[in-house]
Amino acid sequence: STQDYQALDAAHHIHAFLDQKALNEKGALVITKGQGLNLWDSNGKRYLDGMSGLWCTALGYGRADLNAAASRQLEELAYYNLFFHTTHPRVIELSELLFSLLPAHYSHAIYTNSGSEANEVLIRTVRRYWQILGKPQKKIMIGRWNGYHGSTLGSTALGGMGFMHEMGGMLPDFAHIGEPYWYAEGGDLTEEEFGLKAARELETKILELGAENVAAFVAEPFQGAGGMIFPPASYWAEIQRICRKYDVLLSADEVIGGFGRTGEWFAHQHFGFEPDTLTIAKGLTSGYIPMGGLVLSKRMADVLVQQGGVFAHGLTYSGHPVAAAVAIANLKALRDEGIVTQVKNDTGPYLQKLLRDTFSDHPLVGEIQGVGLVAALQFAEDKATRKRFANEGDIAWGCRTHGFDEGLIIRSTQGRMIMAPALVATRAELDELVEKTKRAVDRSARELKL
Ligand code: PLP
Repeated sequence: STQDYQALDAAHHIHAFLDQKALNEKGALVITKGQGLNLWDSNGKRYLDGMSGLWCTALGYGRADLNAAASRQLEELAYYNLFFHTTHPRVIELSELLFSLLPAHYSHAIYTNSGSEANEVLIRTVRRYWQILGKPQKKIMIGRWNGYHGSTLGSTALGGMGFMHEMGGMLPDFAHIGEPYWYAEGGDLTEEEFGLKAARELETKILELGAENVAAFVAEPFQGAGGMIFPPASYWAEIQRICRKYDVLLSADEVIGGFGRTGEWFAHQHFGFEPDTLTIAKGLTSGYIPMGGLVLSKRMADVLVQQGGVFAHGLTYSGHPVAAAVAIANLKALRDEGIVTQVKNDTGPYLQKLLRDTFSDHPLVGEIQGVGLVAALQFAEDKATRKRFANEGDIAWGCRTHGFDEGLIIRSTQGRMIMAPALVATRAELDELVEKTKRAVDRSARELKL
């Protein structure tokens, strides 16, 4: 029964980013089944999944082709490694497919099991790169406050979640600049002006640390877990100019933006810049099986491969055949069923318009941001002055809870409601998503007597 599940879960399991005691008192929601965009709990209640799991189930739940790819591979070759001068067909085929989808200046990948690991590999690979070029002191990684790059030690230090830096997570040789959050920080500046100001913080930081010591700047093209912030249009070109000027590598964390979320294959293509490295995970396999990776530009790969000798790095499950088989089936479906194109030309613009039609005049919503099938609603106390509620986090969390009541899985970060449905969402499913979101936001507005 649900109660049995909850009691056993409480007895043995520590959950992510939650007050475990409070969760145990309430009982975790037990999700038992998924099909398409729908999930069911252990009491049989249906939810529309507005978050594609954790930004990952691009193809939705229950895809027979992904299941078949995994089963076939489990029978043929369940495991082999890339250590003993060995390789296997699936990882080779996956790379061929992946690089056919990426811009031509990327050439090599190192596969991992997750996004956190991909960012760990990034840190070590970038340092190795500068070491080979005779600049071992160039090792400081600059991230952004409120950026999220994972939960391992290095990825936590790279990220800018202050509360995660407790427990020794803030390591030496990491630094941070502010986030390009115009709604909160823009003051009287236009978005364009603020985008340039936020980007130029990077230049100030590089000069403060000494360009000869800075290895790379790492950021999400649009910031996800740390508030779902879309940078002003002027931001990324300026960041790229600064990185090139000071010979600092530019690394995009594409863990949530990659594989079609914005309507482009990769989010940096939507924002129009050219990173030297990409970290990928989540949508690579639609979350059906863990897999991530670090993608390197040809320029970096040439240095590592031609001049580097042995790179002291390896993961038992790197390029795992079953994960690679699922990734191949997933990427082929995204490509051959025209799903990414559909997000760009049809469902993405449809969702963005529907959100603006529904929420532009809503008393609780100050700003609507989004592109493709990812969007955020910013709650505001005073829309004219962009004043945010002092307790915006609690209001948004309450709204999220109303969403769950209404049969919708939606996420809150700070004072923003986030949605990122599966990329296969139909217009009818997007109608349901926005309708249920409206009901949840209306309930929060009523509680605030708006
Ligand atoms: N990078 C970004 C941008 C993420 O959003 C996440 C997870 O949400 C990660 C990295 C970490 O990925 P994982 O949870 O697979 O380790």
